[in-house]
Amino acid sequence: MKAIRRFTVRTVLPEPIAALGTLATNLRWSWHQPTRELFESLDPVLWEESRHDPVGFLGSVTREKFAALAEDPDVVGRIAAASEDLRRYLEDPRWYQSLGEDVPRRIAYFSPEFGITEVLPQYSGGLGILAGDHLKAASDLGVPLVGVGLLYQSGYFKQALSRDAWQQETYPVLDPDALPLTLLKEEDGSPAVVTLPLPNGRKLHAHIWRADVGRVPLLLLDSNVPANDDGARTITDRLYGGGGDHRLQQELLLGMGGVKALRTFERLTGGPAPEVFHTNEGHAGFLGIERIQELMSGDEPLSWDEALVAGRASTVFTTHTPVAAGIDRFDAAQIRYFFDAGLAPDVPTGKILELGRESYDGGDPAVFNMAVMGLRLAQRANGVAKLHGEVSREMFAGLWPGFDHSEVPITSVTNGVHVPTWVDPSVTGMADIMAPGSGVGGRWDLVFNVGDEEIWAVRRRLRERLVEDVRRRLRASWKKRGAADAELGWTESVLDPDVLTIGFARRVPTYKRLTLMLRDPARLKQLLLDPEHPIQIVIAGKSHPADDAGKKMIQDLVRFTDDPDVRHRIAFLPNYDIAMARTLFPGCDVWLNNPLRPLEACGTSGMKAAINGSLNLSVLDGWWDEMFDGSNGWAIPTASDKASPHERDDVEAAALYDLIENQVAPRFYGSSGKGAGADSAGAAGPSTERADGVPTHWISMIKHTLSHLGPAVSADRMLGDYVRALYTPAAKSGRAARADGFRQARELAAWTKHVRTNWSQVHVEHIESSGLSEVPQIGDHLRVNAYLNLGVLNPADVLVELGYGRVDESDDLTDTRIAELDAVQNLGNGRYLYSGTVTIEHSGPFGYTVRVLPKHEALASKAELGLVVNAG
Ligand SMILES: *Cc1c(COP(=O)(O)O)cnc(C)c1O
Repeated sequence: MKAIRRFTVRTVLPEPIAALGTLATNLRWSWHQPTRELFESLDPVLWEESRHDPVGFLGSVTREKFAALAEDPDVVGRIAAASEDLRRYLEDPRWYQSLGEDVPRRIAYFSPEFGITEVLPQYSGGLGILAGDHLKAASDLGVPLVGVGLLYQSGYFKQALSRDAWQQETYPVLDPDALPLTLLKEEDGSPAVVTLPLPNGRKLHAHIWRADVGRVPLLLLDSNVPANDDGARTITDRLYGGGGDHRLQQELLLGMGGVKALRTFERLTGGPAPEVFHTNEGHAGFLGIERIQELMSGDEPLSWDEALVAGRASTVFTTHTPVAAGIDRFDAAQIRYFFDAGLAPDVPTGKILELGRESYDGGDPAVFNMAVMGLRLAQRANGVAKLHGEVSREMFAGLWPGFDHSEVPITSVTNGVHVPTWVDPSVTGMADIMAPGSGVGGRWDLVFNVGDEEIWAVRRRLRERLVEDVRRRLRASWKKRGAADAELGWTESVLDPDVLTIGFARRVPTYKRLTLMLRDPARLKQLLLDPEHPIQIVIAGKSHPADDAGKKMIQDLVRFTDDPDVRHRIAFLPNYDIAMARTLFPGCDVWLNNPLRPLEACGTSGMKAAINGSLNLSVLDGWWDEMFDGSNGWAIPTASDKASPHERDDVEAAALYDLIENQVAPRFYGSSGKGAGADSAGAAGPSTERADGVPTHWISMIKHTLSHLGPAVSADRMLGDYVRALYTPAAKSGRAARADGFRQARELAAWTKHVRTNWSQVHVEHIESSGLSEVPQIGDHLRVNAYLNLGVLNPADVLVELGYGRVDESDDLTDTRIAELDAVQNLGNGRYLYSGTVTIEHSGPFGYTVRVLPKHEALASKAELGLVVNAG
């Protein structure tokens, strides 16, 4: 029989063990091993069957069993202790509480996806996992964050394979009542509702679900409510589902509905209003429009310009991709259609359209670009690794014409990973790295106290556990592909717990080059089957459902792994998710990453591998470009970007094979290898590297990796960077803008308008210099006089700079230094003489120039307004 209606009945827990309810709904269990162990101890079989999901687990325990547990003093005592531990975790002051008054009282963090646990499958890949780790680290550090996102009925898809290795997608429907969520309710008990107008008089209503990520509330908007028509109901049906209007409505709900949800949450909980708004990638950018709408319709309404200034001051935008296809772009007409319906009734639609306009060379005037809007609506912006910062400054330089790329106001904060989520407890347990009292981030240097044998034994156990997991998953996958048990005996001996294990798992966009390892299949086969130094490879990854090129890559790879000659040494596992990842990262000896540089913005899977003592073998892209130090892994050399994609793949694949054969495998097996590495120099090399079966050099690389990368890649480090470099400055700017009825915001808006309107009058008329010897030499004092016309502007409005230093063949300054010139004489009619002196400190080609910039104390960077007059 098929049910016509379904609902989930919530468990009623007996009073003495009622705290299990909070322990199950607060997602801290997802990174707190003792809480998970507590659940497991109550009924290990049910715990397995409920796939380690505390809410599902509690739903499957019988009333009789609960009654028995409630009578057991040991159980009651352990639950009380766990509950008390959680209470202290939630309430005691933590790192952030020691920072004083300047830090924001609350930060709103918007993201289209959040990857917190496999139990809440609201993520597709790196962006979502990063957002989940951001919330968890904020919780651990006491950073007062509130997350804002959408609740997708089906989350992202589940991946399986067809017999001929083509990706199959399914979208199992989630029941919010069976998830670790609570519905936000009004005081009268009815669900809180957020409403947005849609075209043609339609309305979009959404409920707000609350997840608790330790100390951090996460608000998730859900459009699947009875008051909606069918179209509105399905807006939050799946993550990144559909294109065009569907996607746009998701983003309108996330950004504009998200701010409304926050206001409702504030009202119902009496919490402080956020002082900083952080947009994790462009998808949530409409939050800026909603805030401008609020400011333009308040008791003392601001004008568009004033509201823009005030909103930007407290907004942070993080860009996550240098891949053009990764940026959301809509038709400008589509945006007009939705905003004309009254989404932001006091904001002129034309102004909104200007915010997303690609107003630079090569831009498309008919397009509305969410990243461009994100940058215009945020006074502070960042990329997610140093290299990605550079790439982003170049990519978006068109928005700041006249400035060097290095001056484009996009900084970088390198991503990190939430260590307690991703580290296997047996790794940190070896040295008590995370023991209480070891401080924020733990004491990774303690790993040097651990014996080589112990590390090797832990690594083998982790590898063995992965091997078992691969066998189980492979068997399940083959059964789905239509194989009978009788054909599957071979899966029981797939992989070997003593063979060097290489992992590769990630989404499958083209730039990540899933199939680079197949470039020379014969060579790969040789490496897998090498009689002395064999390798084995575990691979996983989902392709976007609309990306047939990605699915073809998966198919090519799976077909290779299906070959009976090699299938015991290479496996593709379907349905990569957090649960798989937590066994995969610790179980691999080497983590492989071979994107097309520089398209990997940061990448975090290699970080998760590193904290478990896996060594990275990666192209110098994203985080690895800044953290590879020569002894914590290997760098796959990058071919010239002048080469064709084909040639690049050839060159880089060959380098990869060589590295594995000559460096990685010999070191793992403790023989000196045939390569030219410093430590394998012929007979003198350490041929006894494998003392007592333990490869000492390999272990020294593990220790080095753990001690150096452990602290550097942790999300605690990342959160600290955000707090210092972005959140605190944004909170200060926001407060300054708001003070005295938005006095500064009004003043800055008026000043900006004045400066923009009159900027074309500013000219560098004439420059003269003196003070150089006949043949210029080091130590000469160069005096520069600049005659400027500022039109109606005053010296107080501008900064006049002398840029000087080495020049290259085309007269570009290379290591530019900056000195400020002072106004020394008012020459009348808007003309001024500026002057300054610098000392020549280098021999060789030298050059200088003068430029004029707008100056105001409330600007966060010299380039902010995109205005500059360069001499010449
Ligand atoms: C870490 C992680 C990712 C992101 O990995 P990248 O290296 O950034 O590609 C994606 N999916 C899962 C399940 C992860 O754990």
